[in-house]
Amino acid sequence: MERIYLDNAATTAIDPEVLEAMLPYLQEHYGNPSSIYSYGRETRLAIEQARKSTARLLGAHPAEIFFTSGGTESSNTAILGAVRDLGCKHIITSQLEHHATLHTVEHLALRKEISVSLLNVHTDGHVDLMDLENQLKGSGGKTLVSLMHANNEIGNITDIHRVGDLCKQYGAYFHSDTVQTVGHFPFNLRETPVHFITGSAHKFHGPKGAGLLYINENVRISPFIHGGGQERNMRAGTENVYGIVGFAKALEMATTNLETDSSYIQSLKSYMIQQIKSRIPVISFNGDTEGRSNYTVLNLSIPKSEKSEMLLMNLDMAGICASGGSACTSGAQTGSHVIRAFKPDPNRIPVRFSFCKYNQRREVDQVIERLLEFI
Ligand code: PLP
Repeated sequence: MERIYLDNAATTAIDPEVLEAMLPYLQEHYGNPSSIYSYGRETRLAIEQARKSTARLLGAHPAEIFFTSGGTESSNTAILGAVRDLGCKHIITSQLEHHATLHTVEHLALRKEISVSLLNVHTDGHVDLMDLENQLKGSGGKTLVSLMHANNEIGNITDIHRVGDLCKQYGAYFHSDTVQTVGHFPFNLRETPVHFITGSAHKFHGPKGAGLLYINENVRISPFIHGGGQERNMRAGTENVYGIVGFAKALEMATTNLETDSSYIQSLKSYMIQQIKSRIPVISFNGDTEGRSNYTVLNLSIPKSEKSEMLLMNLDMAGICASGGSACTSGAQTGSHVIRAFKPDPNRIPVRFSFCKYNQRREVDQVIERLLEFI
């Protein structure tokens, strides 16, 4: 049975060219980058080249780029650093955030280190930026705003320039979880009013376990992970050299092919929308699907019935990988906290399809046939 993989917002297949770039650092170049002998210098050089290339592609300075184990670690570092080192006592965020943000904020709130304001969300899944301005106006003391760029479940895109400008106006720090957009959107961080952004290589055909934290040069936080002085004392632990090389190579490829890949992927998403509208009108869409939305993500809202409750399982048996919301580590579906936050409906089931450059129109056709059968 042919597998149809439409869960690319969860993770993507590694690009063969990325793997090829990584392999020498899994095989012949295994010297410790922190060593003084020349064998280790080669791996150190590879890390610094990856940093320079990543900084150039994102419009940042190499000193602002820190390699981490992924989006989760990056967001934890930024949020905990803002509270501990920058004196933030108030966090403004939304219920639409990824658990890497929400659970970190909840943890700090439970320890009474911060107060939290959750922004109102419109019915199209966009956060209410008027509410953000009001919250910023009323916020005494140092505040951190944490709002993601593109939502991983519904695809909605937040205008991070507007959010950043508001933060600037009211003297707040701004962290944006950009895990769904780094490698999918052009960035020029020199022109973006943001203090922290995050990235994760496995979302754009790089390896798992390789992430990015951008920290604006005007901000100083202390390390989240203590130990050796790697990553200029910001992130201890022997570097994941092949992961870092893979991150930079994947970002380079994604950036080079951004225009072609994004318009191709958008055409798949648009085709699926059009097919659903004409052939399965009982399905509606969650989020601002055809508006400010990531070209990679399409979230469907399916009427609940005995048959459709088994939809994800039936799709799986037909070889189709899709997602129903946030999966916990056991893989069990816990529903979507994102959909619950702005469009709770006990009579409908959310299903997310997310695309990449390797998907094809005929795969969409097959999914449509299966949806007709399983709903
Ligand atoms: N933030 C968003 C929006 C994500 O989609 C993910 C991945 O699931 C993460 C953070 C966590 O990234 P990682 O898997 O690299 O820790």
